[in-house]
Amino acid sequence: MDINGASAIVTGGASGIGAAAARQLAAKGATVVVADLQAEKGEALAKEIGGVFLTVDVTDTDQIKAAVNAATELGPLRAVVNSAGIGWAQRTVGRDGEFDSAHDLDAFRKVIAINLIGTFDVVRLAATAMSRNEPDADGGRGAIVNLASVAAFDGQIGQASYSASKGGIVGMTLPVARDLAAVGVRLNTIAPGLIDTPIYGEGEASEAFKANLGKNVLFPKRLGVADELASMVVELITNSYMNAEVIRVDGGIRMP
Ligand code: NAD
Repeated sequence: MDINGASAIVTGGASGIGAAAARQLAAKGATVVVADLQAEKGEALAKEIGGVFLTVDVTDTDQIKAAVNAATELGPLRAVVNSAGIGWAQRTVGRDGEFDSAHDLDAFRKVIAINLIGTFDVVRLAATAMSRNEPDADGGRGAIVNLASVAAFDGQIGQASYSASKGGIVGMTLPVARDLAAVGVRLNTIAPGLIDTPIYGEGEASEAFKANLGKNVLFPKRLGVADELASMVVELITNSYMNAEVIRVDGGIRMP
């Protein structure tokens, strides 16, 4: 599928995987709406790639609608990448076996609201706009890529909410792709392994943390870089025969 002259939306586009995807989609000729909470980084990126930045909280349906409307003014909306997400650590039970009140239900709800429900809301609103596009030779009108995580398959201590949110994204891939096939829209999901982005924080402690994480990667023994994920995003958007797939991009990592 050709995206030259089309518009695209990248949620979480101000940072990390989303920013790399926005750059690579722009290089393919799309005008990208960078939709994120981080205005300074988002504005700078939009300027660099000839796109538009919009403050969008993916838990706010009206803000998503505004982004979809803005994109359709820039060209037919043919590509959407759901990269907005947060990591969160909480234990359901404290180390001493007591319930840990610092890690409450609200924290769990917040992760689900952003990572899972936010992703679904963007998918449904974007697909509705895509359904109005002129079809290509296949009848294709657009493509969407969601970002899950290997945490969907492999849960770590304290990451119930994160794994549940990403497992939900994996779980919705096939049924939503089936729904969207009726309007010529493809949906694929990427499950990244450990990718060196600001999601792990910045500074000495996070560098040491990341260096340690790299040991679990099969090969190459390092964290992934955002461009290695973004090139898969572009493949899934532009390859018209990719649909309803969940692809790990993770260096073969299996967490202990
Ligand atoms: P990142 O922190 O660099 O980027 C995430 C972006 O999402 C940020 O710019 C942030 O401002 C934005 N965001 C957060 N909440 C938002 C909200 N409510 N509305 C709109 N934007 C919001 O992280 P990243 O590593 O680039 O992560 C991108 C996606 O990939 C996330 O969904 C993450 O869970 C997933 N992922 C990352 C890794 C990794 O190792 N980096 C691994 C697996 C999955």
